[in-house]
Amino acid sequence: MAFENLSERIQKALKNLTGKGKISEEDINKASREIRLALLEADVNFKVVKDFIKKIKKEALGKEVQESLNPGQQVIKIVNEELTKMMGETAVGLNKSKHIPTIIMMVGLQGTGKTTTVGKLAYHLQKTEKARPLLIAGDIYRPAAVDQLKQIGDQLKVPVYSEADEKDVAKIVQDGLAEADKNKNDYVIIDTAGRLEIDEPLMEELERIKKVAQPDNILLVVDAMTGQAATDVAKGFDERLDVTGVILTKLDGDTRGGAALSIRAVTGKPIIYTGQGEKLTDLEDFHPDRMASRILGMGDMLTLIEKAQQDYDQKEAEKVAMKMKENTFDFNDFIDQLEQVQKMGPLDQIMKMIPGMANNPQLKNLSIDDKQIAHTKAIVYSMTEEEREDPDILNPSRRRRIAAGSGRPVVEVNRMIKQFKQARDMMSKITKGNMKGLSNLPGM
Ligand code: GDP
Repeated sequence: MAFENLSERIQKALKNLTGKGKISEEDINKASREIRLALLEADVNFKVVKDFIKKIKKEALGKEVQESLNPGQQVIKIVNEELTKMMGETAVGLNKSKHIPTIIMMVGLQGTGKTTTVGKLAYHLQKTEKARPLLIAGDIYRPAAVDQLKQIGDQLKVPVYSEADEKDVAKIVQDGLAEADKNKNDYVIIDTAGRLEIDEPLMEELERIKKVAQPDNILLVVDAMTGQAATDVAKGFDERLDVTGVILTKLDGDTRGGAALSIRAVTGKPIIYTGQGEKLTDLEDFHPDRMASRILGMGDMLTLIEKAQQDYDQKEAEKVAMKMKENTFDFNDFIDQLEQVQKMGPLDQIMKMIPGMANNPQLKNLSIDDKQIAHTKAIVYSMTEEEREDPDILNPSRRRRIAAGSGRPVVEVNRMIKQFKQARDMMSKITKGNMKGLSNLPGM
């Protein structure tokens, strides 16, 4: 997860301030120094860091003491506000055209995740706006890119416009737009070619596409893993194409995250989405305030709730809530839930959006990998229908049979059943409004 180190270090610097009755100038200087180093190591542009620290010091030292907060909390509040400002303050969405279709042109270097992101964005628009997008395959130099886009289109049941023998991309884009008009698609997303670095022929081609398509949005896809270089690339594309916004990909990786923090300040262009994994569901709206709060370990419940709304089947969720309340939640529901949650992305990342969980030491080494989930599923699939519906009948001989059937040790079967029952009881308590059930959760 990006920002892990940064987050840890900033929090450590701030921790020394909380609990203090009074904060001296020396305390602020010390914390600022630590934050400054942490930001630089996270690959944030040094000029951006300099401005940031200057503002923090000025604010922290000049601030009238607010009675409701202790001095340490006040500094945290200031850091939170300034981090948010650094990333652009408010969330920015897509430019919408007055007439359909709204046209989105994706640009960026090769390998940054452009084609994947076209698919993610199409999925996102389908889910959040019930949109009917058309995708145009404009990366004709890499035959695999056209196939990749077609596969994504099949998966999402979204049409992909391509022309096998046409060498003029601007012509393909023009024809694709005519097709979208005919089909009354509400969005058109154009995938374009990338190179390993910015070069003249690429820029000329993109300019020609821009002229033909007159896009409402030119979104620059930037790989967060490239650190400092990402901001230079962004500047280069922006100077030629006047991009409208940025999509930062691979924020799920082991990146230092500096690009997210500096791109807005360096280019003046907003980050609109972030890519947080390879799956089509792994795209999030970018909210500077929520990202700041994630960095400061304060969790991000809003994004978590939105993800749940987007990827969860509402009817299914209501059905399950009812079952929890009645304590009739069984292993069939459990498997359904597991699959629903898996759709939301890697579990360890989801957990970190919960306040207090981000830096929970128990989560530090937690990797809920797909293998573990596969084992759990194998155990459940080795149960008879009767056992799945009524876990209470699982006596030792049934458990031994299930262990043999699933190829898992009996202790693992026992542990899984025990955890299932505990979770079921707890959920039933919570849905009945008895919050005491929560006190057993870590971090609560
Ligand atoms: P393009 O050359 O810009 O079109 O890049 P692709 O869409 O082909 O993506 C290049 C690689 O990056 C693929 O292996 C993708 O699965 C991967 N990728 C794209 N976005 C993300 C992301 O947000 N996180 C991670 N971990 N990988 C990504």
